Amino acid sequence: MLEAVGIHCHTFNEHAAGGLGELAATAVWPEVWIVREQQCSLARSIIEEYERAPEKNIDCEQCGESNPATFEICWRCSTHLTAFEG
Ligand SMILES: [Zn+2]
Repeated sequence: MLEAVGIHCHTFNEHAAGGLGELAATAVWPEVWIVREQQCSLARSIIEEYERAPEKNIDCEQCGESNPATFEICWRCSTHLTAFEG
């Protein structure tokens, strides 16, 4: 989702949930590292926006991916979202 708006980032621990129980919970949470420090606040606002309205998602007609209602194009396949039509 962040890459779709031009924010370069790396994610860690995406697949580490299986270790839960042996490791401290905070050690296996997914982490997002933003490459450019000046994009951190933008990335944070996007994530907060996403978490604030999780029920207002739009399903992409092309690939079926769920997108935040604030998005105009699908973050996955860049298809224009048609949430505000009809
Ligand atoms: Zn899509």
